[in-house]
Amino acid sequence: MREILLVRFGEVFLKGQNRPYFMKKLTNHIKDAVRDVQGRVWMSEGRIYVSDFTDMQECIRRVTKVFGVHSVSPAIEMEKDDFEAVCAQAAKMMEPLTGTFKVLARRSDKRYPLDSPAIMREAGGYILTHVPHLTVDVNNPDHVMMIEMRDHCYLSVERVEGVQGMPMGTNGKACLLLSGGIDSPVAGFMIAKRGVELCCVHYHSFPYTSERAREKVLELARLLSEYCGRMKVYVVPFTEIQMQIHQKCPENYTTLIMRRFMMRIAERLAVQEGAQALITGESIGQVASQTMEALGCTDEVVGMPIFRPCIGMDKSEIVDRAIKIGTFETSSLPYEDCCTVFTPKHPATHPRKDFIRKAETNLDGDALIEAAIAGTEVVEVG
Ligand code: ATP
Ligand code: MG
Repeated sequence: MREILLVRFGEVFLKGQNRPYFMKKLTNHIKDAVRDVQGRVWMSEGRIYVSDFTDMQECIRRVTKVFGVHSVSPAIEMEKDDFEAVCAQAAKMMEPLTGTFKVLARRSDKRYPLDSPAIMREAGGYILTHVPHLTVDVNNPDHVMMIEMRDHCYLSVERVEGVQGMPMGTNGKACLLLSGGIDSPVAGFMIAKRGVELCCVHYHSFPYTSERAREKVLELARLLSEYCGRMKVYVVPFTEIQMQIHQKCPENYTTLIMRRFMMRIAERLAVQEGAQALITGESIGQVASQTMEALGCTDEVVGMPIFRPCIGMDKSEIVDRAIKIGTFETSSLPYEDCCTVFTPKHPATHPRKDFIRKAETNLDGDALIEAAIAGTEVVEVG
């Protein structure tokens, strides 16, 4: 007899010919997630199991964060031949609980002498007799004792919800513009959840922004990597570009021009990384650079799609998500980000593309971009 974890995953993406591919990806991501708690991960009869872990709670925490995992149950694996022992174990697991219960049974080993209704009846009766403070409610029970007869017998009561989504890397790759704010980590999470692998770009304005601001962004990337696995963060020196824009372009357009440079550089790095799209944390109307016209001005300079999954969300909704995925606290640390340093007093909210294009002719854009890319530092997180 031993403790293991039963991992359940969504069925939707498991239909058809891609099934083995998705399953293999998912299994490998779970292996990566538990690698330093020594979990052994294996697949059998369309299920994923984890055993031999040093710390079960930590193992559950990690596995429930893997995209594609619907739920995880701590379970007891035991021999199935002695049904009396199975019932005794079920009763032992129910003993600490209060309220109502029912037993569910599944028998994939069709040679097992008891069928599912018999298992439910017998085990339910046994629990009722041996744990008298529990009562049965088949419609809306507080607890469900799940008994599965497979190669072994598996008993589980507790079920921890997983993050759901699709296995990482089954839907291409995208490059996240990661600031130190609340929105961009949430945006990255939402796209990654659909199976999209991430890389990140961060623009750093040293010495206007501190080393600690950079560390904060790397910590945000690390928090995301708990879901998406290991990834690269490109830390791009952005001070020179900002200084030049500040000196040579009309003040009310500086933010937008700066954002256009961010997009251009991100696209270059994305191509280099084999990514097919960019992701930002923008939301309509949140700030001057996120009006409809402003978004049009940033879209104009890149050829690849820009995903903005927070686009229709209120700040409070984005905050709720950030809390849920665990990035809010780090995002709320006070270190300045590069946008706030050069923020104009009266940014254009209805910018004109022809004005911006003209203003940009004051800059040697290509040289600025080349220099920024040449000075880029690549950090691996996760
Ligand atoms: P966030 O909370 O994500 O910082 P925000 O509300 O502060 O967003 P902006 O500062 O206008 O909004 O940035 C909009 C988006 O541009 C961010 O969500 C992010 O994707 C990207 N971005 C902004 N600053 C940076 C930066 N320094 N490095 C990388 N990406 C950035
Ligand atoms: Mg920001």
